[in-house]
Amino acid sequence: MMKKKLIINNGVFITLDSKENPVRTGCMIIEDGTITFIGETLPAEEIPEEAEVVDAKGRWVLPGLANTHGHTGSTLLRGAGDDDLPVMKWLETVMWPAEKNFTEEITKAGNALAIGEMLKSGTTAFLDMYHLHMNTTAELVEKSGLNAVLCRGMIGLCPGHEQQGKLNEATALYHDWHNKADGRIRVMLSPHAPYTCPPSFLEMIVDRAQEHGIALHTHLAENRKEVEEHIRQYGKRPGLHLDEIGFFDGNALIAHGVHLAEEELDLFARKGVKISHNPVSNLKLGSGIADVPGMRKRGISVSLGTDSTASNNNLDMFEEMKVSALIHKGASEDPTVTSAFDTLKSATEEGMKALGFMNKGKLAAGYDADFIFLDRTGFHALPDKPERALSHIVYSLKGSDVTDVFVKGKMLVKDRELLTLDEEKIRADAKQAI
Ligand SMILES: [Zn+2]
Repeated sequence: MMKKKLIINNGVFITLDSKENPVRTGCMIIEDGTITFIGETLPAEEIPEEAEVVDAKGRWVLPGLANTHGHTGSTLLRGAGDDDLPVMKWLETVMWPAEKNFTEEITKAGNALAIGEMLKSGTTAFLDMYHLHMNTTAELVEKSGLNAVLCRGMIGLCPGHEQQGKLNEATALYHDWHNKADGRIRVMLSPHAPYTCPPSFLEMIVDRAQEHGIALHTHLAENRKEVEEHIRQYGKRPGLHLDEIGFFDGNALIAHGVHLAEEELDLFARKGVKISHNPVSNLKLGSGIADVPGMRKRGISVSLGTDSTASNNNLDMFEEMKVSALIHKGASEDPTVTSAFDTLKSATEEGMKALGFMNKGKLAAGYDADFIFLDRTGFHALPDKPERALSHIVYSLKGSDVTDVFVKGKMLVKDRELLTLDEEKIRADAKQAI
């Protein structure tokens, strides 16, 4: 069978090869969903008549963005109970009571709204931790064409047989969906947090993960109070406690990591624990500022996540990039601790690795053709010079500057319109569901 060929012509490609040479101009060839060539001039023999050619004039071409922590099921709680509450009080008085009444229709409407919002703002892979209707989410991801890591979130503040039931559901999700949808869906096991899961339950989850070789994901050290309470109850810091349980013996990604001690950061560097940095959610809930410069200095993989719309309140990774680049400069009174280059790496290559998509996140031969087009003609994108591209993307652009989105060479968004999902239906369902 003839290979399907796609050529992206006249592009300015953000390849992030090195800090000195992060941008290349020219063209990119894609065969059966994989990038096979990227260079200045198209080799003449590479243009067969049947190839589809897309003109990227006036666009930056960037690897698709990875949002490494969120909860799409609660998307319809955007703006609900925004009364400036700390995390625990917010969960107990706003989130959990509302979610008790969530039907499959409500979560599905939330999933679709989130997936649509992410697609239109250039996210091509996301992690979703939620405790309801994850099979429906998986079906929607399959249909949308996106990549996702799905986790059936588990809260262990319940009797043993209920804990067991949750773990069995999470394992079934793995067996039903891991590596499915042409490898676009992956599954991790995800206890909600050490403060909502007793050690005995965490041990059960770690055993199950090790038995099947499943990666683990959890919230960790999001706010100071939760860490102090953990130390009071168990006599040790939660990161060290999780290590004792074996949580970091396989692949593990933790969300937040705002209040980690030096020895926990050293441990994570040693064990290759990856961190999803969620600066906007951490600021909004008054949780604090994670030591990202300290993480990077130790070589820890740092990616970016929005967390849910209930604590952000959007899923725009451009906003997340900008805030993550800025807060550490301000907090440390040192503008050199973050850079546009490192921030873009976190949002692309590091994020994809954190999600276990080892073949994504880079515009280079051999990688999956997951990429986005950014409009270079907006007033806030001018003057348009190649050496200013990274700065423009991190500090000036927004999700609404994304015009086209491709995953494995398949176009999912064209001229800012969704091709795989019905935008009007998503809008109507979101209004009606809640
Ligand atoms: Zn979260």
